[in-house]
Amino acid sequence: MTTGTLRQQMMTVLREGEWDVRGLSQRLGIAEKDVIAHLAHVQRSLAAGGARLVIRPPYCRACGFVFEGRGRFTRPGRCPQCRQTRIAPPFFQVM
Ligand SMILES: [Zn+2]
Repeated sequence: MTTGTLRQQMMTVLREGEWDVRGLSQRLGIAEKDVIAHLAHVQRSLAAGGARLVIRPPYCRACGFVFEGRGRFTRPGRCPQCRQTRIAPPFFQVM
């Protein structure tokens, strides 16, 4: 599969609903680090076409702290508020 079609497929999948990196990795059959790399490109090409990549921010499952305005695709390692590591990953969708 070429990079072009892979990104097209990722955009199509992201229009269908919300996905986290792990889900996209399984759905598209590529490594999680590759999902993250492609998401950055998808975000830029969407901006050119008038759509956007909506990111539901990660949050701490222990205390509810929300990582607002982070703008990154990876899951934070640790909560700055309670120091726990049970962090729910960010979810992505194209709108
Ligand atoms: Zn916390």
